[in-house]
Amino acid sequence: MITLFNSFSSNKDNFEPTEKTIKIFICGPTVYDFTHVGHARIFLTYDLLCRHLNERGYDTDVLVNMTDINQNVFNKAKSESQNYHTIAMFYANKFAEDLVMLNVKSVNRLAYVSDYVHYIENHISKLLDDNVAYYANGNVYLDTSKVKTYGVLSKQSHDQLQLHRLDIGPNKKRQEDIMLWNCSENFDFTWPSKFGEGIPWWHMQDTTVALENFGTSYDIHGGARELLYPHHESHLAQYELLSGSKNPVKVWMHVGLVLSGGEKMSKSLGNVMWSQELVKKYGQNLLRLYLFSKHYREDMNFDEKQIAEKKLLMEKIRVADLKTTEKTDGEIFKLVENFLAALDDDLNSPRALEIFENICSKIISGNSISSQDFERICRVLGIKI
Ligand SMILES: [Zn+2]
Repeated sequence: MITLFNSFSSNKDNFEPTEKTIKIFICGPTVYDFTHVGHARIFLTYDLLCRHLNERGYDTDVLVNMTDINQNVFNKAKSESQNYHTIAMFYANKFAEDLVMLNVKSVNRLAYVSDYVHYIENHISKLLDDNVAYYANGNVYLDTSKVKTYGVLSKQSHDQLQLHRLDIGPNKKRQEDIMLWNCSENFDFTWPSKFGEGIPWWHMQDTTVALENFGTSYDIHGGARELLYPHHESHLAQYELLSGSKNPVKVWMHVGLVLSGGEKMSKSLGNVMWSQELVKKYGQNLLRLYLFSKHYREDMNFDEKQIAEKKLLMEKIRVADLKTTEKTDGEIFKLVENFLAALDDDLNSPRALEIFENICSKIISGNSISSQDFERICRVLGIKI
């Protein structure tokens, strides 16, 4: 039985999909820059999950939204005297290249938000018609007072929700209300709509992409833990209202941050580690072994030395690979089972790696493993020999 920690229940829940194909939505990048190791950790975590689900007999269908309608994209476009679309496509292509470099094979749908503006408009119209959204000075907001369960995902009371200052605009009814369409005149690029020229707001973009691709429900929603509020809270509210489904997402699965010197990586602090540079320097195998050595839910403090230290383990894996035979002996068979069981347990990759290292040591000192079983482990971890 596979268990996954569900942020919705705050528990390790049994994962009991009703269909063979597992639908997974991952919050994708805002396409105005290269991806850093924090992004790499997110996509490698869900890639590991998918590889493990595949090993356990499931198919996976992974959708990633590309946020190409965003002020950061517009700013970059303006600074380079380009159209937003040229900038967005450039970085979207870089992102796709990064996935290849990282040996991430699980992502099979990339959806560009700018292709969905018409759908977003229809969804917002429905929320207005249903009287769960309202106009305020040209902008459109979600009326969170109409969503009884609002706050359930981020575990916040009504009083706590009111403390956040977000999506500020004139005549907004409540602090916690979420913007759906922004008609500010300050954007360099805007889209026409029945609400006026403007841009569809972030949370509604993702809700629409997920609804149009997956319909009324899906299995797993993934992303960085910092997206829990307001992004995922509002996504859940909007999704319930638009799909008519109660709990339309079975599991909310959040990944911890990669910190640098105890701080969040940011260009302004000069502490960003780019995925491409790390893969060029160490290869994707070492980066995987390093990132998987920490449980996905924990924050990790980036330490380049520790990537280099994974060379020893990689060397052991290569030597063990040369010693594979036609049969797996009883002792190793048990360890292979344990390896998979560790991943069944909320994707406990640190434990799985320990077991794999033990397997390699035993093979080097005389135990036997079939090449199929050895390849199975490498396939699940995404290690290329
Ligand atoms: Zn998202």
